[in-house]
Amino acid sequence: MGKVLRVNLTEGKVDVEEISPRVYEQFLGGRGLAAFYYYNEIGADTDPLSPENKLFFFTGPLTGVRLPSTTKFNVATKSPQTGLYLCSNSGGDFGPHLKFSGFDGLIIEGRAERPIFLYIRDGQVEFHSAEAFWDEETGPGTEIVKEIIGEKRASVMIAGKGAVRGADIACIMVDGRSFGRGGAGRVMASKNLKAVAVWGRGKIPLYRPEVLAEFSQEAMRKARASRPVHTRFGTAQYTGILNELGCYPSYNFRTSVFDGIETIKAEYMEKHYKVKNKACYYCPIGCAQVCEVKEGPFKGFRSDPEYESIGTLGAQCGVADFGAIIAANNLCDEYGLDSMSAGTIIAYAMECFELGLFSKELIGRELRFGDGEAMVEMIRDMGEMRGFGAELARGFRYLAGKYPETIPYMMHCKWMPFAAYEPRGFFGIGLSYGTSSRGACHNVGGWTIRDELLSGEYDRFAIKGKGVLVKRIQDTRAYVDSLGICTVARSAMGFNDRPSGNVLELVTGVDLTPRLMEIGERIYTLERLILVREGVSRKDDYLPERIMKEALPEGPAQGKVLTKEMYDEMLDEYYAARGWDKDGIPTCERLQQLALDWTGQTL
Ligand code: SF4
Repeated sequence: MGKVLRVNLTEGKVDVEEISPRVYEQFLGGRGLAAFYYYNEIGADTDPLSPENKLFFFTGPLTGVRLPSTTKFNVATKSPQTGLYLCSNSGGDFGPHLKFSGFDGLIIEGRAERPIFLYIRDGQVEFHSAEAFWDEETGPGTEIVKEIIGEKRASVMIAGKGAVRGADIACIMVDGRSFGRGGAGRVMASKNLKAVAVWGRGKIPLYRPEVLAEFSQEAMRKARASRPVHTRFGTAQYTGILNELGCYPSYNFRTSVFDGIETIKAEYMEKHYKVKNKACYYCPIGCAQVCEVKEGPFKGFRSDPEYESIGTLGAQCGVADFGAIIAANNLCDEYGLDSMSAGTIIAYAMECFELGLFSKELIGRELRFGDGEAMVEMIRDMGEMRGFGAELARGFRYLAGKYPETIPYMMHCKWMPFAAYEPRGFFGIGLSYGTSSRGACHNVGGWTIRDELLSGEYDRFAIKGKGVLVKRIQDTRAYVDSLGICTVARSAMGFNDRPSGNVLELVTGVDLTPRLMEIGERIYTLERLILVREGVSRKDDYLPERIMKEALPEGPAQGKVLTKEMYDEMLDEYYAARGWDKDGIPTCERLQQLALDWTGQTL
């Protein structure tokens, strides 16, 4: 669309800016453009909750185009949870409708004097008061926004009660999907911005629309046919697989096989809880599994838990009651909390309670592994920001300052809680956590599961080759996140056989096929430059001592540990592959190769 909408909340001012073709060619869109703007506009010392922090939302060139699953858009901001750069992507209809409104991106800056929400209607921006529903949960809040603007079909992104009350792990909910990790919702609320609604009826200009329509039909058929397991189970399909391989973190990473696995596996979920599928914009796969609790203490709760939420709220907390997982996941969505952070942080609190480091008086109740009701109540406390829940909802960075003796039980990297994969069970995922651009993350850091565990091409306990592997997956993910398409559908529809650059040409007229990996590397390197500017170096790329010193006690990975020496070897290979020095700083030579030598200057 060539344009970005900039809204300054302090001044109540709206500007439309153009993006130069050279910037598109270098950074593609989505995550790439968000990183580019962040690099140029957010200083190393910017307080995440100050008006100087900004939210950079960007779609990709494929977002909203009539191709399967072109739903994704990205945000970059300074994270209150980690104190560092944050990138995150979400599905939902917002990205497509931002494009239909005429914009590739939306930049929010400053701070409104009173609680407000924005409505972008066919390119025009309206400011509305949000005072009447400032403290509302995300579901009812979304309905109120639609009621006020009088447009039921609008897409709404919204900060929940957790965000407005000060939870640093607060997400932004978008049509039931979310910018989950890192606290973007808290940043939004700090700007007195409750929600942004968008509804557009414009068209995305296409270079060769007829050929693209043919391709789209074929792609829809391929995507639908090639992902039956995704449609049937969603990401929950991996729960049983990871557990069988001894890679399923349980009880705050004290073991990697879960003794309650039978009642949280995908097959059990399907049989006892699944109600229907849910899909993002124009997606024939519909991987979200809407589940409902029909009896017991959590009767009536409904949500669509992903693999990660099942792992962190389930096995990590020792909870084998799928009803409790559905309830906790629902509350996370309604309060607007990152369910992954919430689960991993509660697991840490459970271990600290059982070790006597946190008392019943401090927590307000007993908090033992396996107690689903206590876990759900703690989510409520975190969302309401009351009692000890208000402390847990601030995240590990805050908790480390207040309770330094509990740091050994925090499973994190750069203060971002771990995802539900055990690095001692396959070493590459450890490197992914350590080198991810937003702290411990399996997506941005590189989802090595297919290569290390499923392909048969890699020895999961090997060290050599993992640095190169992780770099390749990270760079691929960086360009996919910048295209604006879901990674599941991208491979399903045959983008891999027919390079996505061909499709890009049909859409934009520019064939970037041969350059996509280079663009991915450029984006990843720019994100590292940002982190370096914010104080990150090799010292911050390590994993918690538990991973490096404690051997796994049971299962197929029994006895495995990822020692510092082993990790250093992977890290050295990774830095060398990236052209970074021994301290993890990109070299001038690599910056020149990637045309990033402008950094510090203007492009
Ligand atoms: S595959 Fe799942 S996550 Fe991806 S676009 Fe479809 S419904 Fe959304």
